[in-house]
Amino acid sequence: MTTTLITGANKGLGFETARRLVAAGHSVYVGSRDPGRGRRAAEELGARLLVLDVTDDASVAAAARTVEADGGLDVLVNNAGVEGRGEANGIVGAADTTADTLRDLFETNVFGVVRVTHAFLPLLRRSTAPVVVNVSSGLASLGGMSDPASPGHFYPGIAYPASKTAVNMITVQYAKAFPELRVNAVEPGFTATDLNGNTGVQSVQQGAEIIVRMARVGRDGPTGRYVDAQGSLPW
Ligand code: NAP
Repeated sequence: MTTTLITGANKGLGFETARRLVAAGHSVYVGSRDPGRGRRAAEELGARLLVLDVTDDASVAAAARTVEADGGLDVLVNNAGVEGRGEANGIVGAADTTADTLRDLFETNVFGVVRVTHAFLPLLRRSTAPVVVNVSSGLASLGGMSDPASPGHFYPGIAYPASKTAVNMITVQYAKAFPELRVNAVEPGFTATDLNGNTGVQSVQQGAEIIVRMARVGRDGPTGRYVDAQGSLPW
């Protein structure tokens, strides 16, 4: 049976991804930094809770030891993320962006991805079909953000798009370093979740589609790609 960990799976896209992968027969760990929220989600899903704060070395190391003792890991979905909105749920614009704005956001969205991947890599490398899905964003695309015709072009913030561009580069470099792994970055699309105050235009069912698809790629599947449900995106 395929064993899968999804970080930040107590709600939103991570929760929906967990629901779909449980239905597809995966044995799923619901990663959650809050034990109460995680337990409720895991019980609802028929999945296992794994308490894991992606910003905390000790929490991630303990989680990796638990999964190793349970038997290992095949699929890692780095989903946990924050947008770092300011007052009244507004996007922090360029003029108000400070080094601390980026540092806070990178701690979760970028360093969190590396912290978790580094800790679980030894387990993944023992799998016969190891897969990593990094949940990126369309706002990561340098090509898209430079093109006025692209939907994300007028997004005013700096920190969130920059963090996801870093996730894309991390994806490319891991994919090259570990050709035995399938490592891909996905753009779920603008989805109504707490991350954006539920302003997203599509459902979590639609958004989770590409995350689930890339979590299920086989050993001969793509790696080092940046995709949404329609296909490849410009870096
Ligand atoms: P969400 O509903 O706010 O869920 C985010 C999840 O991440 C929650 O479970 C949250 O846990 C968890 N999380 C945050 N910080 C964490 C930490 N330090 N350690 C562990 N878990 C942590 O948002 P979402 O929209 O589903 O976001 C999921 C991913 O999709 C993110 O990476 C986001 O950037 C990406 N994405 C979203 C959209 C969109 O339109 N929604 C578009 C493109 C990409 P708590 O409940 O404890 O806060």
